[in-house]
Amino acid sequence: ERSEVHYFGAGPAPLPTPVLQKASKVLLNYNNTGLGLTEISHRSPEANAILAHTQDALRQLLDIPTGDGPDGYQILFLQGGGSGEFSAVVYHMVSIFIASLVAKHGSGSGESALEQEKRKMRLDYLVTGSWSLKASQEAARLIGKEHINIVCDARKGESGKFGSIPAQTSWSPTASDEDVALTYYCDNETVDGVEFPSPPSGKNLIADMSSNFLSRPVDVKRHVAIFGGAQKNIGTTGITIAIVSNSILPVHAPMADSEVLRKLGLSVGPVVLDWPTIAKNNSLYNTLPIFDVWIAGQVMERLLTQAPDLKSPRIATQAAESNKKASLLYGVLDAHPNVYTVVPEKDVRSRMNLCFRIKGGDAEAEKVFLEGAEALGLLGLKGHRSVGGIRASNYNAVSVQAAEKLAKYLEEFASKQA
Ligand code: PMP
Repeated sequence: ERSEVHYFGAGPAPLPTPVLQKASKVLLNYNNTGLGLTEISHRSPEANAILAHTQDALRQLLDIPTGDGPDGYQILFLQGGGSGEFSAVVYHMVSIFIASLVAKHGSGSGESALEQEKRKMRLDYLVTGSWSLKASQEAARLIGKEHINIVCDARKGESGKFGSIPAQTSWSPTASDEDVALTYYCDNETVDGVEFPSPPSGKNLIADMSSNFLSRPVDVKRHVAIFGGAQKNIGTTGITIAIVSNSILPVHAPMADSEVLRKLGLSVGPVVLDWPTIAKNNSLYNTLPIFDVWIAGQVMERLLTQAPDLKSPRIATQAAESNKKASLLYGVLDAHPNVYTVVPEKDVRSRMNLCFRIKGGDAEAEKVFLEGAEALGLLGLKGHRSVGGIRASNYNAVSVQAAEKLAKYLEEFASKQA
């Protein structure tokens, strides 16, 4: 029975039961059309209304600037997951970078001038966990590792494990801003349980918020783009949301001609990942899974109604709840240092993915812990296969009651170890 379990998996993750109940109805008959939501055209008036509603709800929750000017942002729905965006950000920002070189030197200046300048191009990556590492590796695969600058690498010496964010004084961003195409970070590292307390600085800042989207206010204006898969805090697997600044879309920022890119040995990305194409078509360039957009809209609607205080940003109410649940759980873990060790350092602990070890990583004790949890209906607590240990994912749909039940189990388990 659904009501008997609490799921702490890292993604896909729980969805609010009332949303799923409503979803099961609209799958059969949407708005008395006699057709289910996965059956109707993505270009129908119904689909358009769903799209507009979800975009509007997201704008309200995060206070996303509107308008067509360079200060406004577009909300795009894409497919290909967070991983697809690892590639999209590279294709897009490199194209803008090359266009700026062409504007400076003129395309008639000969290939060598452009070629020389292109050699200096750098993509700055802050590597604070497995996902930002993966994103940096994808960038290196696409444009060559000589163009990738690792601003910081949080892997600790011998262990090679993540768990901290190096002090900014130790970072090495590319010396000249002129050479920087983008600065990339992952706001919340799902596997390693490391979360940025606040956004870092850097030119053309891009954030992966796959695992902490809609869990706290975001200073959108500091970013040129923010993206994340929907399957953790927002909805079902199948859509990726990107919040993209107009300042990097063609109305305000020219893109390089594909011929120029090819001449410089740079490849041109697939059209389904192309932000300008998706933006121009209001996310309807190709078939959009509108059911997934509907689910996301319903989840957002709930967050809005839970925040009766109309003060912006409306996500603040959910943020308070996320903090409360995370503090409760970390509080219990910290109270039993002989049994539990939280993996990341205290100042960068994730509110969304709580990673810890039992008795310093004692495999038998961790197995017993997981079995005991499962018997109580506390599921999905096994750490990522690459790091082991325990991971409790505390996404929005994990109720306070679920967090309390887990806290109680943590207490009981610890007292038995004494
Ligand atoms: N970034 C982060 C922070 C993630 O947690 C994940 C998935 N767990 C991804 C990117 C990759 O997302 P996807 O599986 O949707 O490609």
